[in-house]
Amino acid sequence: MNTRSKYFENAKRIVVKVGTSTLTHESGLLNFERIEKIARQLSDLHNQNKEVILVTSGAIGVGATKLALKKSPKTIPEKQAAAAIGQGLLLHIYEKFFSEYGQIIAQILLTKDDINHKVRYSNAHNTFNELLRQGVIPIVNENDAIATHEIKFGDNDTLSALVAKLVDADLLILLSDIDGLYDCDPRKNPNAKLTSLVKEITEDIEDCAGDAGSKLGTGGMNTKIKAAKIAVDAGVSMVIANGASENIIKDIISGKEMGTLFLAQKN
Ligand code: GLU
Repeated sequence: MNTRSKYFENAKRIVVKVGTSTLTHESGLLNFERIEKIARQLSDLHNQNKEVILVTSGAIGVGATKLALKKSPKTIPEKQAAAAIGQGLLLHIYEKFFSEYGQIIAQILLTKDDINHKVRYSNAHNTFNELLRQGVIPIVNENDAIATHEIKFGDNDTLSALVAKLVDADLLILLSDIDGLYDCDPRKNPNAKLTSLVKEITEDIEDCAGDAGSKLGTGGMNTKIKAAKIAVDAGVSMVIANGASENIIKDIISGKEMGTLFLAQKN
């Protein structure tokens, strides 16, 4: 049995995060085929007795596309307006695909305040538990329409790690447009090697991610490493993998060597 199968065999509660790049075409319009496959794989996981939570981005992008904005929204109110339009559309599409597989979904929109405030934290915890108990897949995003700087997570990588911690997940999967963590920036170095396993997040790893900037050919790796730290410190193993790869979620869970696995620091 390889390291992955050993760690994933008993993973019961799984959080999957999909980024805008996975959900949309270059045109900014939704990639229905991909969303359909994500819905199918997650519904299948539920049918295998797993508890699944989906953290989704895409609200701002979908809203901006719907408004046919010539430039991406820049100001906070522009982004919030786009998110308010896009979030409903996004859930509508998820509902369409998940219902094809008989899977009930629910929407949970969070802000940082919900995690920092003891009572709200416990309310959110209870709601997740109850939905999972009822066999529902909660679909989570940041509540962009009301979140401003002070109460913003800012990115869904961090949000998904905090959600994984909140629900005591066994595994967090971040799907993006990159194959995983490289030993150096693959855009600058064609010999860059994909790292399969990270047992400890060292300063070298953090520096490497920082260097590569926000679009790291290891793409937005900075926030992903921060998310990995939150997750592994909370006892949640995390995988970063490419959301464009066919059946990626199923492959990861079955122990295939896809992407980069960050091992949880404790059980
Ligand atoms: N919450 C944002 C959205 O739905 C995405 C943030 C991110 O991409 O990390 O558009």
